[in-house]
Amino acid sequence: MADETVLVRCRTCGTRNRIPVARLKDGPRCGRCKNSFPPIAAPSRPVVVTDRTFADEVLASLLPVMLDCWAAWCAPCGAMAPVLDDLARGYAGRLKVAKLNVDQNPVTASRYSVLSLPTLLFFRDGKVVDTAAGALPRQEIERYLWRFLAR
Ligand SMILES: [Zn+2]
Repeated sequence: MADETVLVRCRTCGTRNRIPVARLKDGPRCGRCKNSFPPIAAPSRPVVVTDRTFADEVLASLLPVMLDCWAAWCAPCGAMAPVLDDLARGYAGRLKVAKLNVDQNPVTASRYSVLSLPTLLFFRDGKVVDTAAGALPRQEIERYLWRFLAR
């Protein structure tokens, strides 16, 4: 939809700006301090994150991030994967969907005490603001997203 917006916090003054998704790539300006944001990528597929890229892709992300912690041997993770692909498309510009293979990236997995798989971690401005452990149906994930993106 053309009028979709996303809340982005200005790194200079801390003001939260409501920015139309269509303008993210233009490097929009903060309404208060007029500092411009860097162009913000709006991926429409899950972004693969590793221990090495985690800080850049997730903690420093200007878009809110839903991180899927998964493993190859985890059948429920595999069952949830197409739903996450679909959500990445549907929420492009409002949300970054990211995936972390916990076996290959133990540092990040243990830092966030990921014990059950799959686990969804919801990050905003570098902090976890919500967690969902275990396989969830699509409607349930969307309920989390609705709450997550509203604040
Ligand atoms: Zn600002």
